[in-house]
Amino acid sequence: MPASFGNLLFITLGCAKNEVDTDRMRSLLTAAGYGEVTDVAQADAVLINTCSFLASATSESIECTLGLADEIAQGVRGCPIVMCGCVPSRYGSDLPETLPEVRAFVRTDEEDGIVAVVDGILGVTRAEPAFIPRVKRTVEGSVAYLKISDGCNRFCSFCAIPYIRGRYSSREASSILAEAAELLEGGVRELVLIGQDTGIWGNDFDAETPGPRTLAELLRAVAEVARPFGAWVRVLYLQPEGMTDELIATLRDVPEVLPYIDIPIQHCAARVLKEMNRTGSAAEFEALFDRLRREIPGMVIRSTALVGFPTETDEEFEELMGFLDRVGFDYTSVFAYSQEDGTRAARMEGQVDEETKIERAQAAQDLAEALGFAATASHVGERAQVIIDGIDETDEGPELIGHAWFQAPDSDGAVHLDATEACVGDIVEVEFTDSFCYELIGHVVG
Ligand code: SF4
Repeated sequence: MPASFGNLLFITLGCAKNEVDTDRMRSLLTAAGYGEVTDVAQADAVLINTCSFLASATSESIECTLGLADEIAQGVRGCPIVMCGCVPSRYGSDLPETLPEVRAFVRTDEEDGIVAVVDGILGVTRAEPAFIPRVKRTVEGSVAYLKISDGCNRFCSFCAIPYIRGRYSSREASSILAEAAELLEGGVRELVLIGQDTGIWGNDFDAETPGPRTLAELLRAVAEVARPFGAWVRVLYLQPEGMTDELIATLRDVPEVLPYIDIPIQHCAARVLKEMNRTGSAAEFEALFDRLRREIPGMVIRSTALVGFPTETDEEFEELMGFLDRVGFDYTSVFAYSQEDGTRAARMEGQVDEETKIERAQAAQDLAEALGFAATASHVGERAQVIIDGIDETDEGPELIGHAWFQAPDSDGAVHLDATEACVGDIVEVEFTDSFCYELIGHVVG
């Protein structure tokens, strides 16, 4: 569609959930007659979709906004900035005074009305309402994130997400399956199901809600849609309690559903978990991960550890290190605790000093990398399916970049291949010949 009303620059900060939200706004605005540009000098307005998960992410969002405002101020044309997403959701009424550089603030629950906001800013009047597209997404490439829920009810004591994104709300299966079909018809070959807490998907449906009602049932239904396309289905962000017998059977038995799971544990010491308002213990988690590896061939596990939580003792930190070492996750993200406004943990006595937090985070990160690099190296000599994501220019010339089924896109490293071996978007069988850090080198064998 021609850009009748102006050109927009989209900037997305933060996680995959924000990318999905930006896709949706881009799709609505494109259908309404706006064009997209990649340079602020050509933009009539800029949309920044912000992250506020941590204080550092909020600062980055604000710095990015101020940097843009500065760039725009130095140019010859005025260009309004629209701030969307988590920062407006978290700090709403404080923002207009703090950030006069921003023309409009759009909370996450207001994003479906983005066309009216941009129309208003750019003075666009319409004889008829803007067209609402059937296709909700504008994904380039072979991988698409598919949001199955929003919000969270868990209220972990360190986390601001429930205050930013609101209560947990499962998206209806019919809408998820329709979007999955649209994405696959558009060329997507991997669907990554995301939400703040995917394991409880469907718990908030009432008795009359038709169709799948649990995550396992939903995965089976998405797999059926993906089957004719030879596509993969992956699920991320599942809390340990969400791992049911039915879900284990689905990960094991449904070929399209990858035997890969992202289960953030955050800690393993029962006392710390209780203070975090989470459940579980080292023994329970170890039993779960042993079972997953025993019952599901090739099972790949990613997790997250949070260190330096208020009152965490040296002994409890060492307990976590011992646990990580014993379990040996394939991939582990490590975070140092950050005191977030409005959360219970921010008000707790016994905050750990910054130096100790940084030391603990560095030690845990070193261990996570040692284990993760070894897990990556263990694939050398094996063969596996790889999706080709793109071409990269290196000092030695162009090379193909892809990801194997055991690597979640954007987070777990990549596979590097000779540029002549396949085309972007192909799914090919690759034999791995070498590794470095989380990266694998290989060649196509089928
Ligand atoms: S499960 Fe806990 S850490 Fe995750 S989004 Fe919900 S409250 Fe935050």
